[in-house]
Amino acid sequence: MPIRWRLTLFNALAIGSILAVLGLALFFVFRQQQLRSVESTVETRARTAAETLEISGSGPNTRVTLDTEEVEQLTLDGVFILVRDTNGDILTQTVNLSSGGEDRDSVWREAAASGQPASGTAELSSEAPDYVYALPVATDGQPLVLEAGRSYAAAEEVTEGFAAILVSALGVALLVAIAGAYLLARTALRPVDAVVSAAREMTEGDLSRRLPVVNRRDEIGRLATTMNGLLARLEAAFTRREEVLAYQRRFAADASHELRTPVTAIRGHSRMLKKWGLEDPGTARRGIDAIEAESERLEQLVESLLVLTRGDDGAPLDIGLHDLAEVVAEAVATAKATAGERVRIEHTRPPGGVMAVFDPDRIREAVGILLDNAVKYTPDGGRIEVRVVERDDEVLLKVSDTGLGITEEELPLVFERFYRADSSRAAEGTGLGLSIARQISESHGGRLEANSVVGEGSTFTLILPKHGGSEP
Ligand code: ADP
Repeated sequence: MPIRWRLTLFNALAIGSILAVLGLALFFVFRQQQLRSVESTVETRARTAAETLEISGSGPNTRVTLDTEEVEQLTLDGVFILVRDTNGDILTQTVNLSSGGEDRDSVWREAAASGQPASGTAELSSEAPDYVYALPVATDGQPLVLEAGRSYAAAEEVTEGFAAILVSALGVALLVAIAGAYLLARTALRPVDAVVSAAREMTEGDLSRRLPVVNRRDEIGRLATTMNGLLARLEAAFTRREEVLAYQRRFAADASHELRTPVTAIRGHSRMLKKWGLEDPGTARRGIDAIEAESERLEQLVESLLVLTRGDDGAPLDIGLHDLAEVVAEAVATAKATAGERVRIEHTRPPGGVMAVFDPDRIREAVGILLDNAVKYTPDGGRIEVRVVERDDEVLLKVSDTGLGITEEELPLVFERFYRADSSRAAEGTGLGLSIARQISESHGGRLEANSVVGEGSTFTLILPKHGGSEP
């Protein structure tokens, strides 16, 4: 059964029970009041009649009459009065008690015996029960008993009428309460329907939709807000997954493309070797040299790809407190050997060292890439300056050169995988060096920045947090 019907049913039962109890209580109180009013009228009339009773004679000749002026008042509302002697013989009675009055009841007897007023029910005026009040009347001679009575019939009739009205009124109240409860439940649960239909319309590919929030502070509003938060996180996760997939597809395509070039070259040279190499030693040597160079390039590419993939997989770093200046000094020595006399590398090692938390092998690799690029992209006679500095909580390695420089548009792209600034330098490298260097710095919680002016030179700055990064 839907919640709205269950709520309505529960409310109907609760309100119905309350109304039933209330109705019964009202009915009994009203009935009691009606009966009590009959009784008090009868008692008052009996006392008034006793006071206005006219008695004459004595003994068996006692004569009793009711004040004729009073009788009319006394018998209003069907009250009847009669007076008996102690034998039960009726000495006088009001005309509205035309029949009855026989010695059938014991109320007068009780009063006569005790000398005290007595009350009870009897059937004096009709078959319906009457309330009878008997009052002993003291006389000079024979004691008398005055009885006054009234039928309960009229009071019961009024009570029945009241009960009919009460039942209808409570019935209407119950119906109104049920309708109200249903409407309330429906209004309260309407946002749930909205949430359900909104959720139904959502598909896997469309996570941008949000559930409607009618009132942020009620339970359903809070539920929808929480669900929306969950949807936002799911959407972000899906978007991220899509990005990663797209990136991996692009990476695989680029890598295959890059690998194909040396492989095609090797195949071409092998064919040439097979055809002419045996007869012409010069051709053979050129072919072998070319194959060797392409194989080296292939090896370099595969090596770089492996490094990048390992970094992507979050390979653990072997971090510790090390001197960046020392690592840089080693890399500078290697770079000097490669550069020879072609370019001048200026490096002043800071006194006392520059300590930071990092993985020395990985940072050596990154520094090597920056120095290698500086040497590669600086024409003969150029100059490279290497500096290690401390700044607040960071350590910086700056590699500046007087090389070709990079255009403003290309500057952000040089960190992309397989990107090479222009085709004239294409043969020089794999286009993966700076991606690896940036990956290494970021895995240490640091960053890699580049500044460049075409024709003047470039500066690459590797920045590391002194105390290690958030992503070790
Ligand atoms: P590559 O193997 O081609 O050097 P990198 O990722 O290291 O790949 O560099 C990407 C591109 O950025 C290079 O092709 C080059 O065009 C440019 N570049 C990198 N370092 C320098 C530099 N010091 N001076 C000028 N251009 C540079």
